[in-house]
Amino acid sequence: MHVGVLGGGLQGCCAALALAARGADITIFDRNEQLLSRAAVANEGKIHLGYMYAGDPTLATARTMIAGAFAFAPFFERHLDKPMQSFAVSQPASYVVHRDSQHGVEEVGPYLETVHRLVVDYGQSRCKQYFGRTLPPAVRRWPAAEIEAEFDPAVALAVFDSPEVAINPVELAAALREAMAAHPKIEVRCGHLVTRAERDTDFVHVVSDGPDGPLRERYDHVVNALWEGRLALNETAGLHSERPVVHRLKYGVSFRFPQGRRAPPSATFISGPFGEVVSYADRLTYLTWYSECMRAISKLTAPPDWQTHPDEPLRSQISAGTLRVLAAIMPALRDLDANSLAELSVKGGAIVAWGKTDIYDPQSELHRRYEIGVTTAGRFHSVDPGKLTMAPYFAEMCAARIAPAD
Ligand SMILES: Cc1cc2nc3c(=O)[nH]c(=O)nc-3n(C[C@H](O)[C@H](O)[C@H](O)COP(=O)(O)OP(=O)(O)OC[C@H]3O[C@@H](n4cnc5c(N)ncnc54)[C@H](O)[C@@H]3O)c2cc1C
Repeated sequence: MHVGVLGGGLQGCCAALALAARGADITIFDRNEQLLSRAAVANEGKIHLGYMYAGDPTLATARTMIAGAFAFAPFFERHLDKPMQSFAVSQPASYVVHRDSQHGVEEVGPYLETVHRLVVDYGQSRCKQYFGRTLPPAVRRWPAAEIEAEFDPAVALAVFDSPEVAINPVELAAALREAMAAHPKIEVRCGHLVTRAERDTDFVHVVSDGPDGPLRERYDHVVNALWEGRLALNETAGLHSERPVVHRLKYGVSFRFPQGRRAPPSATFISGPFGEVVSYADRLTYLTWYSECMRAISKLTAPPDWQTHPDEPLRSQISAGTLRVLAAIMPALRDLDANSLAELSVKGGAIVAWGKTDIYDPQSELHRRYEIGVTTAGRFHSVDPGKLTMAPYFAEMCAARIAPAD
């Protein structure tokens, strides 16, 4: 069986590996010159356990993320031969209830406890599959003195520890590129823009444009993993959606935190248009703040081709603005000069989600993120990972549909 995989981001690469492991021959297309060059490497790498989604009290988003998060490290253990404990993960995130939160402490506290119980229950039969970590029995609420040491207590109304970690997506991408290039059943075609997928009863044609000109080739199955290009390509394959979609261009700032200073804790501010700090033991630090980092919104099926690395002066505006806002809340970030930080990088990409309004609206669908996954029409499979967290989980789901185990 020959499967065409469209898009060499995390979702496409995971689908290719999962299918190749089931015996399929794979051709994977990406328009860029190397695999994993877009959202897959421009995100903050948080492997969500659902704590973020207090805006979805049905817990459907949390349950979806938990399933994805527990499948993440085992997938790479299987396909990259990378032991779960070998991931360089961040310090676990503390959840900070911002004074302008769309949900008050009295709502968020019980929500976090409920999600934590789901996480612990799910983890019980999946021994240490969340990066080999032991899960604490409860979420700890910080005493006032601890909050004052790390945050402006007028902004941080309450802080709760969570076991949620982030991975360095750039490191993961490097290991994945190697595995993809070395795999005997995977042909990697970079520099190939896919323009159409045409469905027939027994096969799907893929139309692409590469260094040697246009191609029209036949595959037994096709997996569409184009992320922000996915819905437009679906249309060419006859899959139409009337559902409103929001593409948001969001950036983040990463750098090496200066030696000799106390690094900030990993912190996620909830609920609403706030931001995050991700801190690693090797002092790699990632910052994002919504008002500074969210730079464009598109409700078109095919959004503009946004830049992964913004040019000046946008780059400096994002790094200085993000530092300024976060330094006003977290003392550990005070007096840092964006111009003298080592390895400073500003990178970002599209976040694709169903919805009509931005997260400033408490009723926005963006607060509920469980309607994602694999849509199949005959031999054409379109995968919306929704989050980096979910890519390995949906890759296995898609592979099982195309090549069920005997
Ligand atoms: C700033 C930011 C922070 C984020 N933080 C997190 C987080 O902490 N945790 C989390 O779980 N998720 C996070 N996400 C979401 C996550 O990054 C995405 O859900 C995920 O990476 C998308 O899947 P992908 O990696 O396959 O996408 P991509 O990496 O975008 O892959 C799609 C690929 O398709 C290729 N392509 C597109 N169109 C064509 C075409 N026509 N022909 C050929 N190739 C094409 C592109 O070049 C690209 O390589 C974040 C996203 C952003 C932008």
